[in-house]
Amino acid sequence: MGISQTQSAPQKISRDQREARFQQKGTIIWLTGLSGAGKTTVSIALENALFEQKALVTILDGDIVRSGLNQDLGFSAEDRKENIRRIGEVAKLLANQAFVVIVAFISPFREDRDWVRGSMDDGRFIEVFVDCPLEVCEERDTKGLYKKARKGEINDFTGISSPYEPPVLPEVHIKTSEHSVDDCVKQIIHFLDQAKVFKV
Ligand code: ADP
Repeated sequence: MGISQTQSAPQKISRDQREARFQQKGTIIWLTGLSGAGKTTVSIALENALFEQKALVTILDGDIVRSGLNQDLGFSAEDRKENIRRIGEVAKLLANQAFVVIVAFISPFREDRDWVRGSMDDGRFIEVFVDCPLEVCEERDTKGLYKKARKGEINDFTGISSPYEPPVLPEVHIKTSEHSVDDCVKQIIHFLDQAKVFKV
């Protein structure tokens, strides 16, 4: 006797099933801003806060992704576009598995960020403008990159020799030169709570 033809083959686990299991909606929280503005710092603090709330959450950080997945890419406009395209695709894959994905990338071009937004369902792409004046970022110079860029040792450096296009209508706008890390995170959490982001 063969296997019954009426027995249905297992189906892939759907996004809905995962979201019901984990009690959250897959969402991308996209942090954009100049180098040194505070994206990495805020993303880690935000991840901790959401983890405490039992969210299934992870971070995709520019520096880490660039040293691995995207190590073949430079900083020309074309490569930056490809950088964001790939990271957008990875973030979407994770969001479709019900993850809350915090993305921390300079992502200087509006069009590239909007491309990711446009490929997500409404309410599942939250843009956070990590705003900090160039002078303050340069003063912080956490990675010593501004010094190098000023000496002409780095081409296409955002804010110095390559443009940064701030978001026009970000869901959240934090100012890291005026508020503490904790307060910036509270501001993001407040928005997420109020707008019921990723709540099922
Ligand atoms: P980015 O990831 O945007 O390049 P980093 O998070 O690596 O920036 O560096 C930001 C620096 O600014 C850190 O040294 C951090 O301690 C400092 N900083 C001061 N205030 C804030 C704040 N409110 N939010 C984030 N970072 C801050």
